[in-house]
Amino acid sequence: MKTQTQILQSIPVDPLTGSISVPIYQTSTFVQEAPGIHKGYDYARSNNPTRAVLEDIIANLESGAAGFAFASGLAAIDAVIKLLQSGDEVIAVDDIYGGAYRLFTHVYEKFGITFNYIDTTNAENVRKKITPKTKLIWLESPTNPTLKVSDIEAIATIAKEYNILLAVDNTFASASSQVPIELGVDIVINSATKYLGGHSDLIAGLVVTATKELGEKIKFIQNASGGILSPFDSFLTIRGIETLPLRIKQHSESALAIAKYLQNHPLVKNVYYPGLETHYNYEVAKKQQRYFGGIVSFDLHDDSKELASAILQSTKLFKLAESLGGIKSLCCLPSEMTHKSIPTEKRYSSGVTDSLIRLSVGLEEVDDLLNDLDFALGLATIKISTSTVGLN
Ligand SMILES: *Cc1c(COP(=O)(O)O)cnc(C)c1O
Repeated sequence: MKTQTQILQSIPVDPLTGSISVPIYQTSTFVQEAPGIHKGYDYARSNNPTRAVLEDIIANLESGAAGFAFASGLAAIDAVIKLLQSGDEVIAVDDIYGGAYRLFTHVYEKFGITFNYIDTTNAENVRKKITPKTKLIWLESPTNPTLKVSDIEAIATIAKEYNILLAVDNTFASASSQVPIELGVDIVINSATKYLGGHSDLIAGLVVTATKELGEKIKFIQNASGGILSPFDSFLTIRGIETLPLRIKQHSESALAIAKYLQNHPLVKNVYYPGLETHYNYEVAKKQQRYFGGIVSFDLHDDSKELASAILQSTKLFKLAESLGGIKSLCCLPSEMTHKSIPTEKRYSSGVTDSLIRLSVGLEEVDDLLNDLDFALGLATIKISTSTVGLN
C-alpha cells in the first residue's frame, strides 16, 4: 500500500519544461524524424504522454507491472473480458456491479462465453464451481450496495491451483485501501469515476496487470479496440489520485461514525459497513483492507419505499444521485435506481430490500453529516407515528 508521500513522488515533473503539473498533450499524432523513427509516440490512440503518466501511476499504486487507462470503468472491464474466447467459462461474484452483469450477460454470452454467478464470501464455493473450461474468476470486494467481503487471498490460492486468471474490481475499496495484486490477483480494475477521480467530474476506467505478459495482451486490446481515456480526463484522474490517501482516510473515518450512529437508530434495521465488527466477514475485511471505505448502506424496520424516499428527499447535504466516491456526499435508493432491473426476489436475496438506502459519505464535516441524517430520520419518525395514530 502506497503512502501519500509515495504517491506524490511517483508523479513525474515534466522532463521537457519542469512543469510541476502533468501537461495535457492534446494531440492526435506526433511528427516523426524519419519513417518509424520517433520519440516513442506515433499516434495518440496507441500512446499519449499524459495518459502514459496516469498508466504508470496506477501500475505503481496497484503494485502491478503495467497499467492502462480507458474511457470508462466498463470499457476497462470490457478489455479484460476480451482476453477470453468462445467456449470459456467465468465464475463471477453474484453481487456484481449491474453494468458488468449487463455487459457479461447481454453482450458476451452471445459470443459463447458462459458466466456463473456465485456467493464468493465463502472461498470454497469458488472451487466447487470450477470446470476445465473455467478461465477467469471475477470478484468485487466489498460489493455494491451491501458491501459483502470475499477473502481475496484465499480465492487467489484456489485460482493459482487450477491455473485460472483472477480479476478483482477494486472500485469500492480503491488502491489506497486494498491492493489485490499483493494478495495474489492477476488483474485489477478500477472505475476511476469513483474514488480515484474523486470529484464526481469524470468517467474513467483503469486496468492493472500483475505481469508484463498480461500487460502486453491488454495493451494490444486497448489499441485494437480503442476505448482509451482522453488526455484531459487522464489529467483530471491524475489530479484526483494526488489526494487519494487523504480522502480515503477521511471518507472511512466519517463512514464508520455514521454506521455506528445508524446502528443505534430505532428506525434502522440492518447497517452494512465492513468496519463494523458485526459485519459478515469483518475479520477478512480487517485483514485485507487498510481502510473500510466511504460507503454505508442501511434499511428500515418499516420496509417501505415511500418512507425511504421521504428520508432521501429530506437530507440536504446528502444529494440524491447515482454514483459514489466523490467529495460531496450522495445518497440513493438502489431498488428504484441502480438495482431497478433486478427481479424483486433476487434483489431481496442479496439484501437489496425496498427500503435499502446507500450513502456515499463525502468530505463534509462528519458532525454536519450526522445532523443531516438525524434530521431526515427524525422527520421519518414523525411521519410513521402520525400515520399509525391516524392523524393523516
Ligand atoms: C461504477 C462502477 C463500474 C463502472 O464504471 P464506469 O466508470 O461507470 O463505467 C464498475 N464497477 C463498479 C464496482 C462500479 O461501482
